[in-house]
Amino acid sequence: MKTLIKFENQKLNELRSKMLKDLDREHYAILYGKFHRVSDDTCIITIKDQKYYEKGYDVQTIASIHIGSEFRAQCLSEIDQRIDVDTIVDVHTHPFGKGKPFFSGVDTDDEKTMKEYLVSKGDTIHYASIVLSQDMYNARLWEHDGKRAFPEKAIIKTQKVSESMPETASGSRNEPTRFEMFDRSILALGIDTIKAMMNDQVVTVVGVGGVGSIIAENLIHMGFQTINLVDFDIVEKSNLNRLVGATYEDAENGSKKVDVIAAHLKAINPFATVSAYCRSVFDSDVEKVLALSDWIFLTTDNYSSCVRVQELAFKYYVPFISAATNILVEEGSIADVRGEVILVRIGDGHCLNCLGKIDKKELIYETHPDPEIRAAMVQKGYVKGHDVKDPAVKTLNAMVATIATDVLINQYTERQKDQFVIIYENNEAQTIYEDEDCIKKRESECHVCGGKNG
Ligand SMILES: [Zn+2]
Ligand SMILES: [Zn+2]
Repeated sequence: MKTLIKFENQKLNELRSKMLKDLDREHYAILYGKFHRVSDDTCIITIKDQKYYEKGYDVQTIASIHIGSEFRAQCLSEIDQRIDVDTIVDVHTHPFGKGKPFFSGVDTDDEKTMKEYLVSKGDTIHYASIVLSQDMYNARLWEHDGKRAFPEKAIIKTQKVSESMPETASGSRNEPTRFEMFDRSILALGIDTIKAMMNDQVVTVVGVGGVGSIIAENLIHMGFQTINLVDFDIVEKSNLNRLVGATYEDAENGSKKVDVIAAHLKAINPFATVSAYCRSVFDSDVEKVLALSDWIFLTTDNYSSCVRVQELAFKYYVPFISAATNILVEEGSIADVRGEVILVRIGDGHCLNCLGKIDKKELIYETHPDPEIRAAMVQKGYVKGHDVKDPAVKTLNAMVATIATDVLINQYTERQKDQFVIIYENNEAQTIYEDEDCIKKRESECHVCGGKNG
C-alpha cells in the first residue's frame, strides 16, 4: 500500500515551526484528515486541521501515553461529529537530533493499541502517525487485517517541493545519468533545481490542443521525466496551424492528439515516461491519474472540464496552473488578443470559481441534457454554441504556454514572487502584467476552495 499524506500550502511549515520551536522536549499534535482510496494499492490522506497539545509536558517519556488517551479521546469525538474528516494522524517530535527519526518501541506499542482500540470499537476512523526530527520525518498508516494491527510506510507531500522534507539522508533520488541533454539548463537553473524537477515529479497536461501541446513540449525540454497527457480529441487539418508535433499525415489519419504529442515528446527524450490518455476528464482512470499528479496544467477549451478538474484537484490536494487564450474579432477585424495564466495551490485561498473564471451560462449550456434548451440558449444569444470555431494562432498560444510553464518552473527555483493571475495582451503594445485586482475582487465566500476574503 502506498500512502500519501498531503498538506495545504505552507501547512507543513506551520506544523514544523510550532512543534520544533522548543528543542528540549517532545511535542504532540493531532491532525484531522480525509482518507481517499485512489486504487487497490494507493491512498491519499488530505490534512484539513491541526490540533496542538499545549499543556503539561512534565513527564516526557510517559507523556506520550498519558496525552494519547485524553487528548485523543477529545479529538476522536470531534471527528465523529464532522463529515469532512475521517482520519486521525498523531504527530510527535524527536527534537534531539537530525536525520531520519525512527518510531520507538513505546511509540509503536502506543499506536498499535490505538489502532486496535479503533477497530474493536467498530470505528471507521483511519489512523496514521508522523514523527519529526529537526530536518526529516518518518510516517506510517496503521492497517488491520482482522487479527492484528500493522504499520505501512507513508510519504508526506506538500504543494511545492521546496516545502517538503527529505525522507532519508541519502535520498531515494536517482542520480540522473543523462544530464548531457540538460547541460545548458543546469547552467541556467542549477543542478538542484533540475534534479528536483526530474525526480518523483508527475505533471499532467489536461487538454493537449494549441496551448497544451506547447506546454507539454516545454516540459520535456525543461527536464520533467514523467508526463501524462489527457485529451480525447483527434487531430484535424484545422489544428495544424498550432499543434506542436502534429503532421499533415496525422490529420489525414485522424490520429489521437495524445498519441501524436506523446510520440513527439518521446522522440525528444526517449528516457522520459510519457503516458497518453485518450479519455474524458470524467473517466475514472483519469481521476486516478490526476489524484497522483504533483501538478496539473489545465488547458481545455470548455468550462465543464475545468470545473471537473478543479473539483478533483481540491479533493486530492493537487496544485494546478490554468492557461487560456482569447482572440476577439469584431466585424472582421481583431478587437482584442489576450491570454491568461492562473496559479491555484490548495491553501492559497482562491480558485477559478471565486475568481469569476467559470462562465455560468456556458457551463449550463455545456452540461444541459436537453438539446432543445441548448439550441434556445444559442438562438437567444446567451452563448455562442459548440459549432462556432474560435480564432486561434500559434504565436499567442506559444506566449501563454511559455508563461504558464515558467510559473511552474518558478515553483522549483522560487526566483520570483508568486503571481496568481498573469495576463498577456497583444493589442496596442505587447504587455505582460499581474492582475492583482482579480484576487482582491474575488467572491468573498467560495464553496470550492473554502477561501475567504480579508
Ligand atoms: Zn517517539
Ligand atoms: Zn474559490
